[in-house]
Amino acid sequence: MKVAVFSTEPYDRQFLTAANAAAGAPHELVYFDVRLELKTAVLAAGFPAVCVFVNDEVNAETLDVLASQGTRLIALRCTGYNNVDLAAADALGIKIVRVVVYSPYSVAEHAVGLIQMLNRKLYRAYSRVRDDNFSLNGLLGFDLHGKTVGVVGTGKIGIIFAQIMQGFGCRLLGYDPYPSPKFEALDGARYVDLPELLSQSDIISLHCPLTPENDHLINATTVEQMKNGVMLINTSRGKLIDTKAAIHGIKSGKIGYLGIDVYEEEANLFFRDLSDTVIQDDTFQLLQSFPNVVITAHQAFFTREALNDITTTTIASISDFEQGNPLKDEVKPSEKAAV
Ligand code: NAD
Repeated sequence: MKVAVFSTEPYDRQFLTAANAAAGAPHELVYFDVRLELKTAVLAAGFPAVCVFVNDEVNAETLDVLASQGTRLIALRCTGYNNVDLAAADALGIKIVRVVVYSPYSVAEHAVGLIQMLNRKLYRAYSRVRDDNFSLNGLLGFDLHGKTVGVVGTGKIGIIFAQIMQGFGCRLLGYDPYPSPKFEALDGARYVDLPELLSQSDIISLHCPLTPENDHLINATTVEQMKNGVMLINTSRGKLIDTKAAIHGIKSGKIGYLGIDVYEEEANLFFRDLSDTVIQDDTFQLLQSFPNVVITAHQAFFTREALNDITTTTIASISDFEQGNPLKDEVKPSEKAAV
């Protein structure tokens, strides 16, 4: 099947080409650097399948153009589908598939990386030593052992994250509307309500999806409920945190450390080299200026194992669609509550 693949970087092409080859090269993959949006949809003319990533704009207008050009399948190379108008796709007869499961270790381990980066100030230590500055002033950290870690969302990634933090000797508090026996089975772990998790945790890590209900879950009110000097980690979705409330919390000292892999306005920034550009997002630039903030650009998923899983599943889903098989990872229109 002919597939127009948008938002591709060299690593996407490498892994997709390899996954297609491993399956016997059933598909003709045509790679585009640009992201899919209304003005680039014309590139997909004559392609029955289109493959996109997290920041492509699969809205009603774009879908209209794709449908009129013959597209019948959109394969997301990611788990989230907040960028897709599912009702419009359904009305146009376009099927949507995503990658429900890929290495949860990739994201969980990155969250732990952010914690130790912030705690032991590795970002400062690295630059200092390269500058022959061997002073330890300003690098004081804390033992993770004995600290309380709040896990918001104890699904596939949250559970792995909790297991790793248990290995450090942390106490675990969980909050999830759908409690998991796997979390409760961890030594000393217990579920609490969100206010208790916020007020008791030394470290809070977000591992829930973004839904209409939890948009800005972390806001001025919930920041106030946290311990003074708390460490807040977000590797899930940018809109879970009201960035302005986080900045206020950092300035007041309520938030002692902030580590984020996602940002609410990341679509205008991430996955591109803007190093020669004057960034117009003042909120992001202010956030970057704080010494106790570490930002990575949506790279938590970015391991060999995860890319292998993502591309293998994507190729298999396109093959299933072509052969008329049931689509295991189809996003049904009724799932539109999750953004
Ligand atoms: P999952 O579906 O296995 O688990 C999510 C858990 O969150 C579920 O147990 C669900 O009940 C719970 N939940 C839902 N709403 C909640 C709320 N308001 N408060 C607390 N818990 C809530 O998903 P997963 O595979 O563990 O992924 C978690 C999130 O990680 C994804 O939704 C995605 O946003 C993010 N993610 C980020 C990256 C990255 O590269 N940064 C990569 C993959 C996934």
